[in-house]
Amino acid sequence: DIDHVYEALLNTEVDIDELEPDAYLEEKWIKEVVKRSGMKYKYARLAEVKVRENKDVQRQPPADPAALVSRPPVVTIMGHVDHGKTTLLDSLRKTQVAAMEAGGITQHIGAFLVQLPSGEKITFLDTPGHAAFTAMRARGALVTDIIILVVAADDGVMNQTIESIQLAKKSKVPIILAVNKCDKPQADPKRVKEQLLAHDIVCEEYGGDVQAIHVSALKGDNLMELAEATVTLAEVLELKADPSGLMEGTVVESRTDKGKGPVTTAIIQRGTIRRGSTLVAGKTWAKVRFLFDENDRLLSEAGPSSAVQIVGWKELPSAGEEIQEVESEQRAREVVEWREYAEEQDKLKDEQQAIEAKQREHQESYRRERESLAHLSWRQRKAAMYRANKHRMAQRPSERSGDSEQLTVPLIIKGDVDGSVEAILNILESYDAHYQCQMDIVHFGVGDITENDINMAETFSGIIYGFNVEANKPIQQMAAKKSVPVKLHKIIYKLIDDLKEELSSKLPPTI
Ligand code: GDP
Repeated sequence: DIDHVYEALLNTEVDIDELEPDAYLEEKWIKEVVKRSGMKYKYARLAEVKVRENKDVQRQPPADPAALVSRPPVVTIMGHVDHGKTTLLDSLRKTQVAAMEAGGITQHIGAFLVQLPSGEKITFLDTPGHAAFTAMRARGALVTDIIILVVAADDGVMNQTIESIQLAKKSKVPIILAVNKCDKPQADPKRVKEQLLAHDIVCEEYGGDVQAIHVSALKGDNLMELAEATVTLAEVLELKADPSGLMEGTVVESRTDKGKGPVTTAIIQRGTIRRGSTLVAGKTWAKVRFLFDENDRLLSEAGPSSAVQIVGWKELPSAGEEIQEVESEQRAREVVEWREYAEEQDKLKDEQQAIEAKQREHQESYRRERESLAHLSWRQRKAAMYRANKHRMAQRPSERSGDSEQLTVPLIIKGDVDGSVEAILNILESYDAHYQCQMDIVHFGVGDITENDINMAETFSGIIYGFNVEANKPIQQMAAKKSVPVKLHKIIYKLIDDLKEELSSKLPPTI
């Protein structure tokens, strides 16, 4: 029962940060402990960060090798500006349009499929430039199997050519070289290949394994050779995927289409997408209403490496976002809700960590200050204390009572003689390091409790400790009126015990 759990938790030395619900420790119990122990709000909030069960969809484990079947390569075209990427994509797309029935429309949807006369297929991503590629790589969702590096034969290797090579290397994606604009009289493909040697792109004729195809994107020359080279490389790469089970894919483009409404183009990476499938991507989900290919033909399903247009999103996910199929709409809602929650909590946690770092810093500087004080004379101590008080008073009241100050207990120490006050200070300083909760001696001195002591305590919300001193009636009344605790002791260790208890009660409870 909950009382039992509460007791047990309070008596174990577990950090509240580490509390996570499991079969034995339910969320409601942690909440109850947080409530009962009167933990400070921010700690309670921190505890809550971890108490919700992770409802996200997990990536599926690697498929059974027996279930794997070959899939077409997914290709990205990269290269320097004006070297002919767009022209090459257009020409490749046209090779398909010609093969299609009259009336076929070519439109840009972010990806398209090229089918060779042999029946082999290649999916091209046609997001111009490498912005999309970079965005996807940053999200760790690399869909590209092969990069076709376009270099204009008249221009040669340029800045973005080198950038593309670096990106390919970093992502471990193999390159095929398309030496473009070979129709131009000043074209010098040999020079291009020589230049590339300096960047570790070694073409076959130089003993390397990079295939180089001389093309003219504009005239459509050698495009089939380029496609063949791609298929050959794909065979070497042995690209495979499991077409069964839950679908996984990546958004390559999101847009609002005049006819279809909100639509995304996605590359399927695993499984098969069907009408009626339920998908999640980022913080949105879809019940697939329609699937289209790049020519707007309705599909009933699509398997690995296909580029499909998906209609049915509640809100559009962004390019680069992973798509995962889930069992039900309810599950999709749950995942999205969890992701929203997790994002919120991440933000909260960052804030929390910032607060804690500030607090640690504060305590650390305080500890150092204490340490140095321990070696100081009475007079030096006084001086240090006044400086510290001045600094405190200079802070705005909101800062003073702010989060970073919550764990300090301001103290006023009075004793009958120098020696006793000094002895108490020394003991306190030696204890200080052991407590997360810092003592803050805002005033100390010799003699009975005075009006000034009460005022000090009120200003700093502190506690007055007196050793072998008195507080007369008017002073006691004043203290009561201002709610200033005055604790008088005649035995040092009792005073210290009392103080320790006070500190413990201020600590965020360790459970
Ligand atoms: P991108 O910036 O890499 O997409 O380059 P574009 O495809 O926009 O091409 C830039 C310019 O080069 C355009 O004027 C194209 O017509 C021209 N161009 C592209 N490919 C060829 C080619 O194979 N031969 C010739 N002569 N011009 C080309």
